[in-house]
Amino acid sequence: MSTDPFVVVGADAAGLSAASKFRRAAPDREVIVFEKGQWISYAYCGMPYFIEGRVDQLSKLLSLSPEEADERGIDLRRGHEVTGVDPKAGTVSIEADGKTFDQPYSDLLIATGGRATTGPFDVREVDGAFTLHNMDAAAAIDAYIADPEEYDFGRVDDTPVDRERVARNADLAAPETAAIVGGGYVGVEMAEALRGRGLDVHLFQRSEHVLSPFGEAVGQRVETELAEQGVTVHTNTPVDALVGNDRIEAVAFEGRELAVDLALVGVGIRPNTELLAETGVDLGADGAIRVDDYGRTTLPDMYAAGDCATATHTVTGEEAWFPLGLTANRGGRAIGSTVAGELTPVGEIAGTAVVKAFDQECGRVGIVDEAEATDAGFEPVSTTITAGSRSGYYPGAADTDVTLVADRETGRLLGGSIVGPDRAAVRIDTLSTALEAGMTVAEVERLDLAYAPPFSPVWDPILVAAKVLNGRLE
Ligand SMILES: Cc1cc2nc3c(=O)[nH]c(=O)nc-3n(C[C@H](O)[C@H](O)[C@H](O)COP(=O)(O)OP(=O)(O)OC[C@H]3O[C@@H](n4cnc5c(N)ncnc54)[C@H](O)[C@@H]3O)c2cc1C
Repeated sequence: MSTDPFVVVGADAAGLSAASKFRRAAPDREVIVFEKGQWISYAYCGMPYFIEGRVDQLSKLLSLSPEEADERGIDLRRGHEVTGVDPKAGTVSIEADGKTFDQPYSDLLIATGGRATTGPFDVREVDGAFTLHNMDAAAAIDAYIADPEEYDFGRVDDTPVDRERVARNADLAAPETAAIVGGGYVGVEMAEALRGRGLDVHLFQRSEHVLSPFGEAVGQRVETELAEQGVTVHTNTPVDALVGNDRIEAVAFEGRELAVDLALVGVGIRPNTELLAETGVDLGADGAIRVDDYGRTTLPDMYAAGDCATATHTVTGEEAWFPLGLTANRGGRAIGSTVAGELTPVGEIAGTAVVKAFDQECGRVGIVDEAEATDAGFEPVSTTITAGSRSGYYPGAADTDVTLVADRETGRLLGGSIVGPDRAAVRIDTLSTALEAGMTVAEVERLDLAYAPPFSPVWDPILVAAKVLNGRLE
């Protein structure tokens, strides 16, 4: 066995999960984690709640500190960008402090994540225009929203934040009107955050409904909720341009302009794979690094996990790409075990996702879109029901919409979605488990789900939906 270290590129969810697990499983072996930035082990998922003000300090979104990584025996090198990989030599090239050097590896994990795409918009050039895909951006947006004389620098204490960028944004006059370009989950979460900070918010979605991967029932309910909460929702409305020279002035769409002084572009992300451009490694779904069931790439001793890697879809068994937090943590941890000597699968992915839209909780899993199910070779049948979240007489009971999609021939559950104000989101985990088990709708209907008036009606909304869909299948 090579005595060279296990080298990890990227020090967030996937990279540090792998390094931590590896050190626990193989305490005598060396692991080096190269991170190009200064931030490590941060929760992107918490950024909208920091901006909203629900989380008072950015440091609360940080998990493992550099000191704790050191205590775990992880050789963490911040400010070290990996600029190339030579798989034949088994080395990576690194740039740090203006110098370049090569580092041999025994095994290599690429955990470089993804980056925000900006479509046709040049977000960097204009003050007041942002994407939200790093902690410095979250801090900058938060500072920009505050009145210059009221911004509290204590919100970013104990972090390696770009203080110059924060200070520059804090100095600018506070915005009053915001345009969010993109009605995905980041756009919806940010609509709530910006409303919470008192802005007049316009949300633009190019397709028919917001949260399109969650399906129509969820999109419609969320659009109503957004409107009730004072967000102006523009569906079927692609934004053509951000307008402004030094500072954002307007967004252009449908031949007209809306004056805004904040624009947030949330139109998607792309996997970071450029590092491997010369290596000949296979790329797969959505340009992510193709991996097998153990996170192994098509090159020897090279693994990939997290937002930069593909995964296997639970329902179709095909390659898929879902850049989500658990996938990154779980994949990294499994690869840490495998590299330490215990072959461990990274697990499949059903695309389970939840999002809060003001008072509505939304969840989705598997295949929700019938056209996608047809493309995958199924004959989809679906139903959407509305049922109570608790016994009708118990305070807090609320309408919950459940959509289930199944295959007509086999009766197999393919996916579903849920939306409602009363603990709807967590119910999606029942469907996720059913998908993992390959259950039919009839089997879901017979599940022994818990009942007591404060928690659920006798027939949980999932069971009601399964009963109705099963009737249609029969
Ligand atoms: C606003 C927002 C909200 C989100 N909310 C949720 C949610 O609610 N639920 C959920 O499941 N997921 C959510 N996500 C997604 C989740 O945050 C990601 O799936 C997760 O962070 C992926 O972890 P990762 O380790 O693969 O990549 P990343 O977190 O992107 O980390 C990659 C690291 O690699 C470093 N790196 C890149 N290239 C190099 C290089 N060449 N050399 C050295 N270092 C390099 C980067 O600097 C970075 O630190 C959200 C994301 C965003 C942006």
